[in-house]
Amino acid sequence: HLINGEVMEVSAQYTSQHNPKCGTIKKSNRNHYLHEYYCSNCGYRSNDDRLGAMNIQLLGTQYISGQEQPKFELTTNA
Ligand SMILES: [Zn+2]
Repeated sequence: HLINGEVMEVSAQYTSQHNPKCGTIKKSNRNHYLHEYYCSNCGYRSNDDRLGAMNIQLLGTQYISGQEQPKFELTTNA
């Protein structure tokens, strides 16, 4: 991925499972067949490709603000 012309390494892990709105990571939130992401926690709904793009953008933001290896992590209370 290119951020400001600079190549960055981001972990693709959870980019299709992470909800940028509430931070929930849940595999079953993504419906491959319908290409839809629906968060059972907060009710947020989005196209799964769009959600992935939003998450990668989010990781890019973290990278710019100094995190060397931005990634999403599962929380114990998820
Ligand atoms: Zn949610």
